[in-house]
Amino acid sequence: MKNIVLFGPPGAGKGTQADRLKGKYHLVHISTGDVFRYNIKNKTELGVLAKTYMDKGDLVPDEVTIHMLEAEVEKNADANGFIFDGFPRTQSQAEALDGFLSTKGEKINGMVALEVPEDLLVERLLERGKTSGRADDTDEGKIRNRFNEYNTKTAILKEYYAAKGNYFGVNGVGSIQEITERLAKVFDTL
Ligand code: AMP
Repeated sequence: MKNIVLFGPPGAGKGTQADRLKGKYHLVHISTGDVFRYNIKNKTELGVLAKTYMDKGDLVPDEVTIHMLEAEVEKNADANGFIFDGFPRTQSQAEALDGFLSTKGEKINGMVALEVPEDLLVERLLERGKTSGRADDTDEGKIRNRFNEYNTKTAILKEYYAAKGNYFGVNGVGSIQEITERLAKVFDTL
């Protein structure tokens, strides 16, 4: 299997790029944000709980998120591998993912990170908010909170994967196609 964590701050382009790369590499794309939004739309118990955090731009608690991610992986038992988008976002999630994959004789082949300066990200998110219908994309305060969550809880994962020689940074500024090509060069080596 090829299991890749597509990493980066909110607005870096993870979802857009995962969509383009999943077909090329025959991987299943799991976006935890998308799974939460699907549950919110369908008013499931998980959705009602997740909404209280997501609307503020806070992270959903680890226990809930890890459980959901594992269920998504189990649903795709015959996959060639996965692109994890928006997961892990905390050290506990990263450790849980490693433990979970190792029970299957699998591992993360690499964390591929889209590196984009923060002022450009805010611009992109506000632009996306005009059409995404996402409450967490339209309010600059909520966007700032999402960056705060990212900077305090998520950014450290760079070191977690780098310590295993598994971190690959990619310049996330440019056209969508250029960035796909940069990512594909790294995916090819994993
Ligand atoms: P995203 O679509 O990846 O930008 O995620 C949108 C929101 O979903 C985040 O701001 C969090 O509230 C929640 N979320 C998504 N993935 C996770 C995760 N791995 N851990 C905690 N919360 C998450």
